[in-house]
Amino acid sequence: MSESAPIQHPNGLTSGDFTEADEPLRLFAAWFSDATRSEPADPSAMTLATVDADGVPMDLGCEWLHSADRNVLAPLAEEFGFSINKQRPDWTTRLRNSGESEAAEADWAAERDAFYWAVHRLAEQPEDAPCSAALVPGGRWNTLLNATSTWANAVELDRLSAKDNDRYEDTGVNWRLHRGYGRLFEALAEGLPIAYGTAATHIDHHGAEIAIETGRGTVRAARVIVAVPSAIIAEERLVFDPPLPDKLAAAAGLPLGLADKLFFHFDGDAPERFLIGSTRRHETMTYQVRPFGRPRINCFFGGRFAASLEREGFDAMAAFATDELAGLLGGDVRQRLKPLAASFWRQDEFARGSYSYALPGHADDRGKLATPVDGRLFFAGEACSLHFFSTAHGAYETGTAAAEAALASLLR
Ligand SMILES: Cc1cc2nc3c(=O)[nH]c(=O)nc-3n(C[C@H](O)[C@H](O)[C@H](O)COP(=O)(O)OP(=O)(O)OC[C@H]3O[C@@H](n4cnc5c(N)ncnc54)[C@H](O)[C@@H]3O)c2cc1C
Repeated sequence: MSESAPIQHPNGLTSGDFTEADEPLRLFAAWFSDATRSEPADPSAMTLATVDADGVPMDLGCEWLHSADRNVLAPLAEEFGFSINKQRPDWTTRLRNSGESEAAEADWAAERDAFYWAVHRLAEQPEDAPCSAALVPGGRWNTLLNATSTWANAVELDRLSAKDNDRYEDTGVNWRLHRGYGRLFEALAEGLPIAYGTAATHIDHHGAEIAIETGRGTVRAARVIVAVPSAIIAEERLVFDPPLPDKLAAAAGLPLGLADKLFFHFDGDAPERFLIGSTRRHETMTYQVRPFGRPRINCFFGGRFAASLEREGFDAMAAFATDELAGLLGGDVRQRLKPLAASFWRQDEFARGSYSYALPGHADDRGKLATPVDGRLFFAGEACSLHFFSTAHGAYETGTAAAEAALASLLR
């Protein structure tokens, strides 16, 4: 990818003729070897893509092993020889690092905890209300609570189901991989017959055999696991025939929020720390200064603000972040920053956003989306996870569960 372009998915493969094959894995293997030949640079294009600039890993999507002490990927990472940084991020001190007093920071921490308890109480009510209903009217920290929601949930509190949010299981332990999270998935996927650049458009499940139409031909299978982002189903970029109105409704109840990242090369000497552009503006970013002591500042932003910056483009993102960083670190920081790359997850036609949230009233849609159809169509992906949605390990767990269920159904 270039610095200013959206993350490009490797589509448009050129192998002219396609053949229908009865044996999908053999067909995938042929497509994979074609994809590898055509796209030697980087055939991976998921929301966990890791790209390198100057040899430094950058996670354009997922970075943290959230709930790391319960995260199935943590032991797998160790098994695969990945070194894990287990230092827990001190996100609360972002406030004092960004010009707030320690007393203000303590007030924020208390208010944030009170807010989470209020969401929990709200979630116990019969009606599934938006999380914004738990805000104290006129509260000093409401703007920051909303900004924090756009980073954690990729959406503002008024769009977020309290019941769903309350079901998320956060143990508060967050670790990172020195080589990047994306590289772990590349290692896990090594040797698998993956057909990159091959969008599925139509799943015909009338007959005994299921037929999946793709841009490169039709694959026939006895069982199918659908693991596309919820928006791909809701927007009918992948169509089921016969139609599955319940799946469409569930996917529509779980839209994809937006969280994006911007990376700077930083020629400065600061210690590693986290900053916030403003505690009083909703339109602000959070910053990771010199992660792992590397010459980088990583910027993170979400929600409506990220959507507007995506529309304005890479230069506007970089200019906004540079101004905020100059306010935080002093004007001479401008000469020390070189924008490198950014994600544009909303514009990515195979992602359509960053991760799912449940709309108020739709907390139960995750279970509905995950339910198999006819014992032959199985569903996976982060949106199907009841307690670890919006995460890579949640997605992974739903994938292994769907695979096990599909295999078990074949043995019956
Ligand atoms: C900025 C950002 C930061 C994040 N930070 C973290 C973090 O720190 N920790 C964490 O755990 N998670 C994080 N996440 C979330 C995490 O990346 C996702 O939850 C996870 O990747 C979801 O996996 P998935 O398999 O459900 O979906 P995806 O990773 O989106 O995979 C879906 C796949 O389906 C493919 N596809 C789409 N349409 C079609 C089609 N028609 N036919 C065939 N294939 C199709 C896509 O190309 C893609 O490969 C972050 C995400 C973003 C964007």
